Amino acid sequence: MRLSARMSGVRRSYIREILKVTQNPEIISFAGGLPSPDHFPAEAFARAAADVLRENGPQALQYSITEGHPPLREFISRRYKEKWGLDIPVDEILITTGSQQGLDLMAKVMLDVGDDVLIERPGYLGAIQAFSLFGANFLTADLGPHGVDTAQLAQRLKDRPKIFYAVPSFQNPSGITYDAATRRETARLIEDSDTILLEDNPYGELRFKGEAVPPIRAYLDGSRMALMGSFSKIASPGMRIGWIATGPELMHTLVTAKQASDLHTSIFAQRVLHRFLEDNDLDAHIAVIKKAYGERRDLMVDAIIRHFPEEVRRTEPEGGMFLWGELPRGVSAQEVFAKAIERKVAFVPGLPFYVDGTDNAFRLNFSNSTPERIEEGIKRLGTCLKEVLSGPCRAAGTCAPAADPGV
Ligand code: PMP
Repeated sequence: MRLSARMSGVRRSYIREILKVTQNPEIISFAGGLPSPDHFPAEAFARAAADVLRENGPQALQYSITEGHPPLREFISRRYKEKWGLDIPVDEILITTGSQQGLDLMAKVMLDVGDDVLIERPGYLGAIQAFSLFGANFLTADLGPHGVDTAQLAQRLKDRPKIFYAVPSFQNPSGITYDAATRRETARLIEDSDTILLEDNPYGELRFKGEAVPPIRAYLDGSRMALMGSFSKIASPGMRIGWIATGPELMHTLVTAKQASDLHTSIFAQRVLHRFLEDNDLDAHIAVIKKAYGERRDLMVDAIIRHFPEEVRRTEPEGGMFLWGELPRGVSAQEVFAKAIERKVAFVPGLPFYVDGTDNAFRLNFSNSTPERIEEGIKRLGTCLKEVLSGPCRAAGTCAPAADPGV
């Protein structure tokens, strides 16, 4: 097959491959980045879909405009104002087919082959994949307990990357959140650079501990950045509805690129989602999700404290869906993964979240497992970790401690 050169360097999503292994219901999986299906509002969606078809059937089943369903865009604009006092005009919001499409569109309109893109280390692998397709050359800035290392960020921005891609709240994969000072400093550094900030915020509303902090957009003009959001983690990922908010110049180009990609995001899905949002209390729904995830996160941290060897470091996220672990340097998470599958427990080894081959970290998802399975799974994983850590490097005394505190 004479495939494009563009596809040659791009790996299939490592996680989708792992998810195939974990289809087996006997395996306790902390691998997928899946919201809990127990909290999908299926009945409310059934009512919304029936109402839309009965009342607006022809419009819901017809082609529609690329920018998205205006009342849905108004809902998003209003919510930014109510939650954060942010003024984001409706015509600066483009509805996308999940925020993943926002990544694809941004890469498409911003990047030529070989262009530098700055990402967090570790970084979201879906973004690494999307940018790789357009030939990105990656630069990285480390994450620490308070967010991106701003000294490194300042340094990397001198190389004038086209985009700095960041997930400042409850990052995938690390669960780390930028504190307010780091957000302000990031905004200041971007302001002084000619790099566009791409702020990806699918988890921002899922805070179950600590103090709320606004998106970086609160400190930076819309012309210097694009802010992405998504209904995947607060309503349903299957609806495939997200958005990208940015100033008029970039917006115009993104709309053109989206026209060529898919004409528009399913108008049926947009109308059903909007109807759902009109007829139900989204904040009450999010409160239920946060309560469940917060409990699961606490259980996982507690089980880790009891079952994991001390050398394994971890983050303690204040929201979102993920917790990140780090093994002593030189110990491979893939080796742990092989043992874990034998014991019927799964996670994602850290390798695909790095562009430099780092292999001693791993991601655990806590949103999609019941409390009983969290306890049992972490116990099994603890056994695997103890086996690997009592292996050759431990015996030789050559296992170095993890490098980055808090990550
Ligand atoms: N960005 C991040 C950081 C994510 O974790 C995800 C989902 N795994 C996405 C974007 C894509 O989300 P969606 O397309 O469902 O909005």
